[in-house]
Amino acid sequence: MSQRLREVIAGVFSEVDVVLAYQQGFDKLHVTPCFMTMPEEINKLVWNPLCAHNLTSYLPSLKKKKVAVVVKGCDSRTIVQFMEEGLINRENVVIIGIPCNGVISVNKVLHETNHEPIEDITFGENGEISVKTLKGEKTLLLSDVCPDKCKTCQYPTPIVYDRLVGDPITSDKSPDSVYADIKEFENKTLEERLQYWEQEFDRCIRCYACRNACPMCICQDSCIAETRDPHWISQRSTLSEKFMFHMIHALHLAGRCVECGECERACPMGIPVNKLKRKINLDMKELFGYEPGINPEDKPPLYTFKVDEATIKEHKI
Ligand code: SF4
Ligand code: SF4
Ligand code: SF4
Repeated sequence: MSQRLREVIAGVFSEVDVVLAYQQGFDKLHVTPCFMTMPEEINKLVWNPLCAHNLTSYLPSLKKKKVAVVVKGCDSRTIVQFMEEGLINRENVVIIGIPCNGVISVNKVLHETNHEPIEDITFGENGEISVKTLKGEKTLLLSDVCPDKCKTCQYPTPIVYDRLVGDPITSDKSPDSVYADIKEFENKTLEERLQYWEQEFDRCIRCYACRNACPMCICQDSCIAETRDPHWISQRSTLSEKFMFHMIHALHLAGRCVECGECERACPMGIPVNKLKRKINLDMKELFGYEPGINPEDKPPLYTFKVDEATIKEHKI
């Protein structure tokens, strides 16, 4: 796969200003984004299950450049959502799609290896991962250390692409599994749900890594977390201020969150921040039959206005 990807990338250099792909990070367990502008740089390329980043996050800020970007199925939903919202020029983007069987959650690997420093990690056939630490070698299964999104993935093959590296993969996960956890959570009482979120958000240190990692957070300098005019949220580290940030963040992503999971991957406190957005996505699906990042011709429901929605009869209340 890496060799085929290398060949495809080598073939697009003449068409673009920059190629967004992956390179080895600061240790064996980390891969980082790589911006390649010259064919010689292709030697940096890495492709393995540690390539978890959603590289499409960089596309809106590179809107005036010609960019080639490597995407997995889930990443491609971000590109579709960008198209729906007019945040990229599609003709300036060469999408190199890779059908995907799942990526690795670094935190889950560290948990499985008791946070021992990782000396080496290799990937075998059938989703086997061999991890070497000073204490010895351990074999893990990708299905046990992948992020939760991979366990219910409906789009392992990119929805949009210009080049496809590898054969398309069809999801074998039940569509009902996608929101099963949200529906189970909804069975709790209001008090139980409030207590759950109070406990989770109380741990928030307001580092805003979740916001910064989110490809659909586009307000940038106008973010309510920082603006002083109007002054929506103070710097006080109280639960109510944290709640305020997270509620507004979730509402700004209503029907726009593509469920890439980058917010949760970035959170240093392990707070399940994507759960709120997925709850709102479920509501959007049930109310408007809309799913973000699936059809470039769609418009997010909150981008449009109709006096009468097919499923909301407010005039008849
Ligand atoms: S959600 Fe799907 S496409 Fe994305 S990394 Fe997991 S398996 Fe791959
Ligand atoms: S809220 Fe999280 S899962 Fe949703 S688009 Fe942003 S980073 Fe991705
Ligand atoms: S990344 Fe985590 S700790 Fe930081 S602001 Fe977001 S939820 Fe809070």
